[in-house]
Amino acid sequence: MKRVSLTPAVFHLSDRLNRISESYGKQPIVPRGPALKPILDRLRQKVSEQLGVSQTHETVIFTASGTGAIAAAVGSCIDDRGVLIIANDVYGHRQADFCEQLGIRTIRYSLEPGKKPAMSEIEALVKEHQVGSIGMVHGCTSVCLLNPVKEVGELSKKMDLRLIVDAVASVFVEEIDMTNWHIDTLICSTNKGLHSNPDLSFCVVEKNHLEEMSQRPARIPYFDMGKTWKSQLSGSHPYTINIRALLEFEAAMDDFIERGGLNSRMGMYRDRLKILRDGYQRLGLKTLLRDDMEQQNIGTALYLPEGVDYESLATALADWDNGDDECYEIYSAQGELSGVVFRIFNMGEYSLATYERFISALEACIKQLQA
Ligand SMILES: *Cc1c(COP(=O)(O)O)cnc(C)c1O
Repeated sequence: MKRVSLTPAVFHLSDRLNRISESYGKQPIVPRGPALKPILDRLRQKVSEQLGVSQTHETVIFTASGTGAIAAAVGSCIDDRGVLIIANDVYGHRQADFCEQLGIRTIRYSLEPGKKPAMSEIEALVKEHQVGSIGMVHGCTSVCLLNPVKEVGELSKKMDLRLIVDAVASVFVEEIDMTNWHIDTLICSTNKGLHSNPDLSFCVVEKNHLEEMSQRPARIPYFDMGKTWKSQLSGSHPYTINIRALLEFEAAMDDFIERGGLNSRMGMYRDRLKILRDGYQRLGLKTLLRDDMEQQNIGTALYLPEGVDYESLATALADWDNGDDECYEIYSAQGELSGVVFRIFNMGEYSLATYERFISALEACIKQLQA
């Protein structure tokens, strides 16, 4: 039975990527010296090119899941003036929590989950507290909505602030214009939109900003952005880096590039969403939406239908067996939306037919639970 993952965390990957662990197992590469440099150089170049920032930004890679890159960013990029964090989803709050725990001067602009931040309020808070940076999330995975990074970027530029954006759920799957949106630090991971394993994460950081932070000690030694950058520039890494994961990262990048880059990846997601969102509408499911907030490409947050609780629905779909040899893992809501909303993601290597079959299974499971 194939367990189709409709989650944003772990899902089926391309054969090209899966073959890496086999070939690497036969011939592992020592993560030191001349074998490492060309891999790091190629990856840094491919990422910059695909994000259109070869002249202005540099990529720094960390051995951690996406959250490690959040820690690296807030631990390294924020100066003594502190930071204003837009917290309108679970990950905005995570950024703010990390800042507070690190003793950073933190102004938390808290909003209802998914509510659009007001530029006037951000401006007033920055003026009042005189912070030097803004932190925010682009793809808000806990509500499946997109934050207005462009608008915040314009404001941040006008007020001469540094902008940190968590793009773990949006890089390589949503439009991101780092230059015109004035993004100084983009937080990314290899396993969401890029379709690789969750072993590595990376930050794409403006060069002058990197030089600046290299002059002061980072707050978390293991995730010191400046030190890691300098080390990777010279072809090494301060600690042991997972070369198998680097090669998988590269296979995923190559796959992304050869299949037509961002436009084609977004097209693939749009085709899936057409089937899924038409399906939700046909089944009468209500989508979580907020004024002036666009939906994410990677998934959809839906209200639980009447008389159906999340656990029963998830179990029915996980136990689904109608002879198609496929069952489905869906995702609960996070934080204060738990028990009200559930989420269905459309990431990874699955055919459109899988999403059509899933809609039928969802319909049958809901009917059975409501009976
Ligand atoms: C998934 C996610 C993270 C966390 O990434 P992990 O790989 O689970 O550590 C951070 N931010 C956003 C927006 C995410 O969607």
